[in-house]
Amino acid sequence: MRKLGIYVQVPFCQTKCTYCNFHTGVVASSRFAPYVEAVCREIREHRELLRAAGVGSEIDGKAHSQNWLCHEAVVDTCYIGGGTPSLLDRSHLQNILDAVRSTFVAQLAEVTLEADPETVEAEKAAAWVAAGINRVSFGLQSFVDQELIAAGRMHRRADIYRAVPILRAAGIRNISFDLIAGLPHQTKESWRQSLDELAGLAPEHVSVYLLEIDEGSRLGKELLQGGGKYSAGAVPSEDVMAEFYEMAQEGLGAAGYHHYEISNWAKRGFESKHNLKYWRREPYLGFGAGAHSFSGTERWANAHDAAAYVTALQGGRLPVEQHETLTAESALEEELFLGLRQLDGIDVGRIEREYGVTLAGKFDPLALAGLVKRDGSMVRLAPERLSVSNEVFVELIR
Ligand code: SF4
Repeated sequence: MRKLGIYVQVPFCQTKCTYCNFHTGVVASSRFAPYVEAVCREIREHRELLRAAGVGSEIDGKAHSQNWLCHEAVVDTCYIGGGTPSLLDRSHLQNILDAVRSTFVAQLAEVTLEADPETVEAEKAAAWVAAGINRVSFGLQSFVDQELIAAGRMHRRADIYRAVPILRAAGIRNISFDLIAGLPHQTKESWRQSLDELAGLAPEHVSVYLLEIDEGSRLGKELLQGGGKYSAGAVPSEDVMAEFYEMAQEGLGAAGYHHYEISNWAKRGFESKHNLKYWRREPYLGFGAGAHSFSGTERWANAHDAAAYVTALQGGRLPVEQHETLTAESALEEELFLGLRQLDGIDVGRIEREYGVTLAGKFDPLALAGLVKRDGSMVRLAPERLSVSNEVFVELIR
């Protein structure tokens, strides 16, 4: 049976980070229960809702022998992300996972909850484990209070040191930390401090993201229009961010982490099973406002607005906003762009056979420039040039 991933989007936060303009809202907690009910309904009735929305419309056609909708798939990973899903009541999370288990054939090997450190309490953590959550992805971003304050985060360094032992005591054996390189006020010394403190807490998995500032965010507007409220003047340059990335490569490698994707490191065996599905183009179903899905042949996404999503589900309708049946050309682009994010690289021979194309012309100049490495039919990004990997992706779409 084919494996299927489930993603559940919880678009609520306690506060808005200065750099973020995601479709997440700071709302009254009374909005959580109707949202969770809508998500559970979407999970339980997904086949009927998707058919009515015109998604998976080729389900009865022969063309869909590859489509997961034709088969019973086994759900082996579930990822509850956001937003800040750890804000939800423990019963909400239990209800979501119960809906997954009662709707799908579920053999859940990895169930991840995104959490912010200040939301972790012993009773909640015990309930998460009882509900089946076995992995927590922590949005730490930094161990330096000045950086956390400037970014508008709710937690402080002390919250991280309070939360991690609570999770360990509750039985969570798989913890991932997110760090952001390029926060306002970050220096080489403070970045080194964050990397060192992270290594001291020994999470099983680490994600390092370069700061992306949405133009519509408060920090983005200040960068464009000037001002001093959100520390736009203290955002490190792109060159410094690239140095931070290289420091992370070196420091995390020395601390025993295996670099397996551009932004992700793990102790062996703790690579994110769920996120690997995205880069390997394996099927996943997304539930909730703004959630994206991929069937193998089609991609679609739900409407972003959480209130509109709840109203639609209460009326028995799925508000699908984007729906695309992939052409061979776009599927090939995905193979290259998503596949190359993994440091093991891509099997160009397989891709050439599957898509009837020749890719040597694209990769030869990149190999000559030292940006990619070839090993038989495998091509991978050069590990020492990862901080400029964008150059590879730009060349590939020329
Ligand atoms: S917690 Fe995440 S989603 Fe929420 S405002 Fe901050 S960056 Fe955006």
